[in-house]
Amino acid sequence: MSAKTKFIFVTGGVTSSLGKGIISASLAKLLQARGFKVGIQKFDPYINIDPGTLNPYEHGECFVTEDGAETDLDLGHYERFLNEPTSQANNVTTGRIYQTVIDKERRGDYLGSTVQVIPHITDEIKYRIKLIGKKHNYDFVITEIGGTVGDIESLPYIESVRQLKWEMGSDCLVVHLTLVPYLAAAGELKTKPTQHSVKMLLEQGVQPDIIVCRTEHHLNDNIRDKIARFCNVLPSSVVESIDAKSIYDVPILMRNEMLDSEVLKLTQTPVTKEANIEEWEEFLFKLKNPIETIQIALVGKYVELQDAYKSILESFVHAGAQNQAKIVVNMVHSEQINDQNVADMLGKYKGILVAPGFGERGIEGKIVAVRFARENKIPFLGICLGMQCAVIEFARNVLNLKDAHSTEFRPNTPFPVIDIMENQKKISGLGGTMRLGAYPCEILKDTLAYDAYGKEQITERHRHRYEFNNDYLSRFTEAGMVPTGINTKDDLIEIVEVKDHPYFVGVQFHPEYKSTVATPHPVFMSFVRAIKKYQ
Ligand code: GLN
Repeated sequence: MSAKTKFIFVTGGVTSSLGKGIISASLAKLLQARGFKVGIQKFDPYINIDPGTLNPYEHGECFVTEDGAETDLDLGHYERFLNEPTSQANNVTTGRIYQTVIDKERRGDYLGSTVQVIPHITDEIKYRIKLIGKKHNYDFVITEIGGTVGDIESLPYIESVRQLKWEMGSDCLVVHLTLVPYLAAAGELKTKPTQHSVKMLLEQGVQPDIIVCRTEHHLNDNIRDKIARFCNVLPSSVVESIDAKSIYDVPILMRNEMLDSEVLKLTQTPVTKEANIEEWEEFLFKLKNPIETIQIALVGKYVELQDAYKSILESFVHAGAQNQAKIVVNMVHSEQINDQNVADMLGKYKGILVAPGFGERGIEGKIVAVRFARENKIPFLGICLGMQCAVIEFARNVLNLKDAHSTEFRPNTPFPVIDIMENQKKISGLGGTMRLGAYPCEILKDTLAYDAYGKEQITERHRHRYEFNNDYLSRFTEAGMVPTGINTKDDLIEIVEVKDHPYFVGVQFHPEYKSTVATPHPVFMSFVRAIKKYQ
């Protein structure tokens, strides 16, 4: 559309976890629904080069893009909302910024000048902010700044935003998300934290243009006027973001609050058409009017932490809505499952999913869960490590290879049915060195996989070092665990299925990274259909 890209920044104040990612994705969705080309990216102020090496307890799931970048889980929201892939360029950390600047300094690119936060670090940040807009010719680029205003580590980002606002005028806009807490004792909503947080931004030279207020209760006109007056914005630029039942309600709530119109007005963008969100509303209708409720188990080791399995949980929301079923995903701790209690722990569920993961903790419980699903003919889906556990279980209990294991956990196992890939053996560093991103896979006909995808050539995203060991392939196939998806170029088994079972599928890749509201993932769709059929 327009030749010039407009830049919208989303900052956060008062506290973390207010949902900047969802607000950013919702605004992007509304602008996209008006026919604009929108890109969305996240800048994280921590020093890690990327979240690939982070423990899920720190930042939740690591989201993997088509081009194999290990990124922040907010990129998953961006893809699920916009139905468009993101890439390495959409997630930048302080670590990456500094690494680039230091590399340039070592090469001598700065010609002897003193390398400083301003201008060298801020110039690198500004360059990266503009990058995706140029590449894709976006009308709008929404940039979420991680962290909370006032953090020492976010200073260079806020300074970069200040400079860009100065340089670009109305082509650059700051949306500041704050909290308006409700004091039950006083029976009142309080605006002071918002005022303070805006003051903090002002101290750093940035006047926010729109203030989005996260709140448990509706904001009345008084509150809106008060925030507008103290924070130098128009009353129409004070936007309520009330707690929602589902994150997928937020685009609708933001449209009702006219956040997108306000953005168009303030960036002086001509309004060409209203947002067409019919499909989104249809999805919401299905989501809210399920015909049945189905309980399934997710066997993993991060049960206290929903964020660790974010994309899997969202994939069930998408596939459930499409199938008019509310899928309740119960977290079951793999460390607590054993042969004696497995029937008690898993017997009540209509489907069992064994989660991806790294490290030995909880492995034996996962293997017991697989066995229970296989022997009791409960629909089963194993993802990545979950698939590897299915292979180990089959080796031990069907092929009678008693100590079969993955060499990730038993380097000296006599039966290494899951083994490290040849090209992984010489790798020493941990960051960004796995088999990452999209790889092609050929689907064999007359299989559950083919039922799901309905085609022979697919691509799926990966994040692992270990693989099915082909030395054992004929034994598995003869005994009834067959490969149904293969990477023919490198001869890697990507999908296994157990015959003589209503639905037993293990996938070496991560289907959850590709499920969106507009296109629920075929594997989750087929798993949900199977659960409905066999329950
Ligand atoms: N730890 C396993 C591997 O590296 C599985 C990884 C995963 O589940 N993402 O191969």
